[in-house]
Amino acid sequence: MNATVRFAPSPTGNIHIGNARTALINWLFARQRGGTFVLRYDDTDRARSREEFAQGIARDLAWLGIVPDRVERQSAREAEYAAATAKLKALGLLYACYETPDELDRRRKRQAARGLPPVYDRAGLKLSAEEKAAFEAEGRTPHWRFLLPNFEGASAGGGDPFSPQRTEITWDDLVRGPQTIDLASMSDPVLVREDGTWPYTLPSVVDDIDFSVSHIIRGDDHVANTAVQIALFEALGATPPGFGHHNLLMNASGEGLSKRLGSLSIHNLAEAGYEPMAVASLAVLIGMSGSVEAMRDLEALAERLDLTAISKSAAKFDMAELDGLNAKLVHAYEWSEVSARFAGDAFGGQGESFWPIVRENIVKVGDATAWWEGLMATEPVIGDDDREFLALAREMLPPGEIDPESWSRWTTALKERSGRKGRALFMPLRKALTGMEHGPDMGRLLPFIGRERILARLP
Ligand code: GLU
Repeated sequence: MNATVRFAPSPTGNIHIGNARTALINWLFARQRGGTFVLRYDDTDRARSREEFAQGIARDLAWLGIVPDRVERQSAREAEYAAATAKLKALGLLYACYETPDELDRRRKRQAARGLPPVYDRAGLKLSAEEKAAFEAEGRTPHWRFLLPNFEGASAGGGDPFSPQRTEITWDDLVRGPQTIDLASMSDPVLVREDGTWPYTLPSVVDDIDFSVSHIIRGDDHVANTAVQIALFEALGATPPGFGHHNLLMNASGEGLSKRLGSLSIHNLAEAGYEPMAVASLAVLIGMSGSVEAMRDLEALAERLDLTAISKSAAKFDMAELDGLNAKLVHAYEWSEVSARFAGDAFGGQGESFWPIVRENIVKVGDATAWWEGLMATEPVIGDDDREFLALAREMLPPGEIDPESWSRWTTALKERSGRKGRALFMPLRKALTGMEHGPDMGRLLPFIGRERILARLP
């Protein structure tokens, strides 16, 4: 089956790991099927949309390995939205309403007081030409509502819109399974604002039709929009696509993610030195049954994608888990895979031999540099109880070049002379020579520290 999917962010901020989840699920879904991925900028909100954010989104997607097959901008498609608007008006499916937000609010409060659901009563549909003219003479301009087909005879273009009745819209959600929403429980949505601009609903459906989107996969905050959108697809003479609504991510304290929260932005994670595949693996595999593991590449991750395995409740994003996945990837990298990220003279030109020693101790590739610098510059850490022992160690350092065997020869001899063993034998040396309590195998590290520095760090 061929598929066309889309990722439709508004360029009003940097995308975060939750947005990346939507983008990746769509991308992998398309890859599984040899399909097409459309990046659609929902930038009709001119005041909040910014070009720098649009570019940032493309940059962050590229970092994750997503290269859209097609890029579209809603701001360039107003003629299409105007045509669809005219079509709906001609069909009698858009009607003018003149209520102000205050008036609507008061109406909802009256409904609530009477125990009625806050559904718009279609008052606009009752207005006569004179009443409309009177509103316009007052300086009001209408907003336009979509007449939902939730009354007998609606699909045949007749019936009584003031007697709504239960009208089930159903779809088999790719993630959530069979879904049913009653259109009679919903207000006719505003498709065109007073100022002639369109809220998200109509442009989205028009684009999905024009770009032949076969599957809309997005966060489950859009479930409630789906019934209206299905009705709108049908009103515009199109067959609705498939829908899938995945769970959302929340941060460690259980709050939803927001574009305003910079910390989990893809850009910040990239700048912080995380591997794209660690971020991508976590973004896709959390909140899905099966283990969360670091996949080597997007092909391998695509094999793990199973929309039906996605949980129905929100998933918690945990930085510690990201560190764990990142470390897994880093520990498996060969020097040839990372060497390009370091300057040619990094690690004293001995990256090839230093990398395999250090990689096991780091979380991010870049951490290797700090290790190296630490090794080159560290101040000895010498406890009072160890001073004498370390002075003895200095005396007993094997002569000649320090090689990978030097450490065991040195410590074996020291053990005998000092009577120390285990931690008491090794830890003072490690601390004096590396400044740290943990780290790579000392035997392998020692040649990099070299005789001169070893001597300088011992009392
Ligand atoms: N711009 C919408 C959003 O950011 C797109 C929703 C959709 O995928 O239909 O949520």
